[in-house]
Amino acid sequence: MKDKVCIGKCNRNAIWIENKIAYIGDKCTHCGKCIEVCPVVKFSE
Ligand code: SF4
Repeated sequence: MKDKVCIGKCNRNAIWIENKIAYIGDKCTHCGKCIEVCPVVKFSE
């Protein structure tokens, strides 16, 4: 499975990964595009 797909979806460059944890910064506009592609979110539903 491909990881970090959220970073490619964010046209605000608001996401970064550190030690396998995704962080979202102030540039986020809550558009939801990163959530749509996130496999972790799908598994936890
Ligand atoms: S909600 Fe939108 S702007 Fe915010 S981090 Fe996700 S893709 Fe980027």
